[in-house]
Amino acid sequence: MPNLFGITRDDLEKYFLSIGEKKYKALQVYEWLYEQRVFNIDEFSNIKKEVRDKLKNDFTTDFIQIEKKQVADLTEKYLFRLHDNEFIEAVVMHHDYGVSICVSSQVGCNMGCRFCESGRLKKVRNLDTYEMVEQILAIEKDLGLKINSVVIMGIGEPLDNYDNIVNFIKIINDAKGLKIGARHITVSTCGLVPKIYDLSHIGIPINLAISFHAPTDELRSKLMPVNKVYSIDALIKAIRDFLQVTSRRVTIEYVMLNNVNDSIDDAKELAHLFKGMNIYVNLIPYNETNHLEFKRSSKNRIKAFYDTLKKEGINVTIRKEFGRNIDAACGQLRGRRSE
Ligand code: SF4
Repeated sequence: MPNLFGITRDDLEKYFLSIGEKKYKALQVYEWLYEQRVFNIDEFSNIKKEVRDKLKNDFTTDFIQIEKKQVADLTEKYLFRLHDNEFIEAVVMHHDYGVSICVSSQVGCNMGCRFCESGRLKKVRNLDTYEMVEQILAIEKDLGLKINSVVIMGIGEPLDNYDNIVNFIKIINDAKGLKIGARHITVSTCGLVPKIYDLSHIGIPINLAISFHAPTDELRSKLMPVNKVYSIDALIKAIRDFLQVTSRRVTIEYVMLNNVNDSIDDAKELAHLFKGMNIYVNLIPYNETNHLEFKRSSKNRIKAFYDTLKKEGINVTIRKEFGRNIDAACGQLRGRRSE
């Protein structure tokens, strides 16, 4: 049975029409769920009982459970238990400008990026739309605050779960849903090229972040198997299309791996690839884990890489770090109960 938190307003309108009701009932349901935060269908008092009964018959309102919460330096990490006893994580970060959340999109991930802790767990399944919406609702309730921006960058490759991601974006962006502006929604992908083209055309100009991490096909294919299927050239064409269609800026994520991808020549090659494009590069100091062989680049190497990109005319930042001591940083989410 579908879950009410996974239904876009358009689809809910179609549902009501299909049962012979007026479509404005969808708006009433959305107001209960997302404005009043009333999740019990019996309490939808402006909807008559027989329609409420029908709704209860056709939809569940089951909720994911908070299994564990860890708190450190302006960060909270949540471990959620799903209905089938799988686990996923979400991370909340408190910035000067608001509160952001990094949500997971799959249980595990099949992309196999070699430096990534999250990808060590093979994909078990896609998250359903409602399981992503509920990560936000559960955390807003627990912390008693409003999330201002959403990054789909937790466990999983979002574009490998495309339909659910698009529905999720529609629900959180809906003015009667979670009201999160398109500028405050970011999808991060390792480079599933055909889906990037599709995402350009959903009519909601969200931000795109690309996990790029290497300036040549040779190195990128070693670090990220996806590159053997979609080369750097194909990826850059898709990024150009996204920029043209959405007029948004694209972020190029680049994790700094000591003596792997962090030389001055690497920086020059990266700059050459993106010259003149409306992108900015986000350099991410690597978070070392016990299981993987990579080391974090030194501060000096990161600074030299940064300076080279700047000199080449590329917009670049070094990511501010959050949550390292609770393994809440990029690429460290696991979704395991024991850790
Ligand atoms: S970096 Fe992202 S796409 Fe790559 S394995 Fe990790 S979670 Fe999957």
